This record gives sequence, C-alpha cells and structure tokens, in this order.
Amino acid sequence: MHVLIVDDNDIDCLITISFVEKAGMNAITTNNATKALEITSNRDTTPEIIVVDWMMPEVNGLELCQKIRALNLSLTPYIIMITSNSFGQIEQKALDVGADDFIEKPIHGAVFIARLRVGERIVKMQQKLLSLADTDELTGLLNRRAAIKACETHLARLARSDKSTSHCLIIADIDFFKHINDTYGHQIGDRVLTDVSNRMRNSIRPFETAARFGGEEFLIYCEATEAEADIILRRLRQTIASSEYSYNDISINVTMSFGCVVINKHDTKHTINEFIKKADDLLYEVKNDGRNDYKLASYSSIEGSE
Ligand code: GH3
Ligand code: MG
Ligand code: MG
Repeated sequence: MHVLIVDDNDIDCLITISFVEKAGMNAITTNNATKALEITSNRDTTPEIIVVDWMMPEVNGLELCQKIRALNLSLTPYIIMITSNSFGQIEQKALDVGADDFIEKPIHGAVFIARLRVGERIVKMQQKLLSLADTDELTGLLNRRAAIKACETHLARLARSDKSTSHCLIIADIDFFKHINDTYGHQIGDRVLTDVSNRMRNSIRPFETAARFGGEEFLIYCEATEAEADIILRRLRQTIASSEYSYNDISINVTMSFGCVVINKHDTKHTINEFIKKADDLLYEVKNDGRNDYKLASYSSIEGSE
C-alpha cells in the first residue's frame, strides 16, 4: 500500500510517517497540495491512500480533496483528512468534498493505524471489482472492453516512442469451433477454449496483451516488427495445432486462423477499431483459403487504409 502524506508541518509529517510505516505501508510525503496533485494524477505514482492536512498555505486540504476527486481516476485513492481544530462543521465539510475519513490531531497511533487498515480494505475491494470487470470469466484472459483499453495504452506508448519500433495486433479465431460444440457438447467446447487461452497466454510476454475478444475469437497485441510478428504467428499457429486436446476418452484436433496488422508509429493517428477491422479482413482471407494459417500486413500497405 502506498500512502501519500500531505502536510506542511515537518514534525507532524514525521509522526504520520512513523505510523504509516508501523502499519507496514509505504510512505511518500510532500508539504504542498500542488505537488500532491501532480503525484496523484500521474498513473505511475498514484497512491492508494492519501493522508492530507486541512491547514496548508496556498491550496488547503479541502481544495486538494476536491481536485483529486475531479481527476476521476478509475482507481480512486482513499482520503483521510487530518486537522488540528474541530471548529464549525469542519468534519462534515471534509466528508462532503470527498474525504473518506476524518481525524483530529494529535493523532492517536493505534486508532490511526486501524483507520489506515479500513482504507486498505476499501482499496483492495475496489481493485478486486475492477479486475473482475476486466476479466473473462471462463478463460481468465482480459475481456473485450479491457482489451481495447489495453490496446489504447500500447498505442499511446507507440505514438510517444522515438524509436522506429512497431507493434502488431492479431485477431485469432478457432477453426470449425461450432463443429467441436456440436460433436462433443458445449462443456468440452469450453475446455477447448480454456486450453487454447492458456497456450496463448504462455506464448506472450508479460507486458503484452492476450484477450478473449468474442466467443472463440481472441486478440493478441505485441511489440514486434513485421519479421518478428511473422515468427510469433508461426509459433502460435504451430503451438495451437500441435497441442493435445484430450478429455477423458475424447481427443480433438484444434487449429486456429490468424490475421495480423503491423502498426508503425506513423499509423498511430488511426483508432484501435480500424486496426482490428484490418486484422479481421486478413483473418477472413485465411478462413477462405482453408484455415489453420496466418496472414500479416503492415497497416499502411493495405489498400484503402489511408
Ligand atoms: P470458422 O472456422 O469459420 O471460424 O467456423 P466456426 O464454427 O469456428 O465459427 P462459427 O462462428 O460458425 O461458430 C462459433 C461457435 O462458437 C458458435 C458458438 O456457439 C460457439 N461459442 C461461442 N462462445 C462459446 C462459449 O463460451 N463456449 C462454447 N462452448 N461455445 C461457444
Ligand atoms: Mg471460428
Ligand atoms: Mg468466430
């Protein structure tokens, strides 16, 4: 758990750090709200919990709280507001602008740690819900919605890169899957889907994306040049087709067809859906040519793509 402590008072800050560390959490500190907002809005440094002092020069804790909520982060931090004076309706105000909890100074260590634990529980629950919303239940791969989101992140990185690097987007579809279902039943069909998914997941690197895009259709997104993509596709086709699919006394032959579009930095003005459409067109060519094969092309080389 990363806890950001925002307090302009050095002594108070040190006390808070000691409690956060006692709770086994990781403390990051800043003495001003502007810096805190910067840390929070950067996806790489967003803390899970924020402990913010009400009284600070320039931007106070209350305003900071409002600004953090206005960021609309998908995983929003748990905010604990701290103050030394409890005049007026200060507690209600803090909660109204989006603080999750409110504590008065001087901080009572054991109670503060218990409240950090409440924050941890809420954050973990939020993380679990988000991951459920992104996961395909049967295969454990990312679902379609999460796949598009992941591809957009990859694409934004490609757009920012200064290297002459490229990415590839693959749409893969199991051949004659309806026949597998019709012959052996839906349950066996599901096991084939799970086995195919595991083999695809094992074929990519951790920072790449494999997702279940539809019924028996998958999306894979890799960092690769056209030559590397060719090797990836050859290996994928071979892995799927040569693996054993045995369930009790049933043994099934499974093959897949693949369409792959290679995306260069100068293609990044186009949308993920445009790349998917091209990969899909290539996949259908493979289906028409007899299946169990792949086709790839760079996006800019495909006619009508400009
Ligand atoms: P092609 O080689 O042209 O791709 O033919 P196909 O039979 O694989 O394709 P088609 O689109 O005709 O059939 C896909 C089948 O996948 C139909 C659908 O019932 C089945 N399917 C979709 N989702 C699931 C699932 O979650 N589990 C199972 N068992 N079957 C599914
Ligand atoms: Mg199919
Ligand atoms: Mg299909």
